[in-house]
Amino acid sequence: MKLFRFKKSDQIAYGVVANDHVQTIHGSIFDAFTMTKAIYALAEVEWLPPCEPTKIVAIGRNYREHAKEMGHDVPAEPLLFIKPSTAVIGTKQKVILPPISKRVDFEGEVGVVIKKKAYRLGPQENPMDYVLGYTGALDITARDLQKQDVQFTRAKGFDTFAPIGPWIETALNPKDIGLQTWVNGELRQSGSTRDLIFPIDYLIRFITEVMTLLPGDVIFTGTPAGVGPLSPGDAVELRIQELGTLAVNVAMCPCPA
Ligand code: MG
Repeated sequence: MKLFRFKKSDQIAYGVVANDHVQTIHGSIFDAFTMTKAIYALAEVEWLPPCEPTKIVAIGRNYREHAKEMGHDVPAEPLLFIKPSTAVIGTKQKVILPPISKRVDFEGEVGVVIKKKAYRLGPQENPMDYVLGYTGALDITARDLQKQDVQFTRAKGFDTFAPIGPWIETALNPKDIGLQTWVNGELRQSGSTRDLIFPIDYLIRFITEVMTLLPGDVIFTGTPAGVGPLSPGDAVELRIQELGTLAVNVAMCPCPA
């Protein structure tokens, strides 16, 4: 099932996507909902980020080949950092290059959307029971500032640096979600969650030992090899099998009117 957030006639709504239409729901995607009779063509609504995370918890170096390309060893434990909620944009929106960075990279990732409050799970609990579904995620990174700062917050925290979408797919097998990143029609990254060093269930258990995950929070699970720099005018597409395409364009700041 594809859970989609959109705006129509100044109203923000959730719906379920089938083919090129969305059927509006009544209720919460995180709890119970029923289908309504309101159906719209996707072309006639404004597409929004599929959820409103209170935080994004992202994982560094979670694919062996990417750790290698960055000149790092594989970490012994998941390397966590936070991207702020203010960095979130949706598909068809613009990543704005900040004037204080000379090198901004794309990192295509699988995003895990949390369904219900999770904190310090017991040994009998299944972390996957806390997952609503999966969405495309781009962990946009000012690489020069990341190297300069050591800490990731500035480099990863700019407004527009966390595109997510286009919707939340609830029916993927988390052990093998294929993802590809295309820039200007050229394939740049190709990977699968089967190559994650720390798999999704492990990550949920690990993160919630530290902090509470809330409904709508998103985990960025790490990027495969092939990251590279972006320039103004670039078109970035993250394609995930059976999920769809998260598509953003890159613009200079200040962006043209
Ligand atoms: Mg990343």
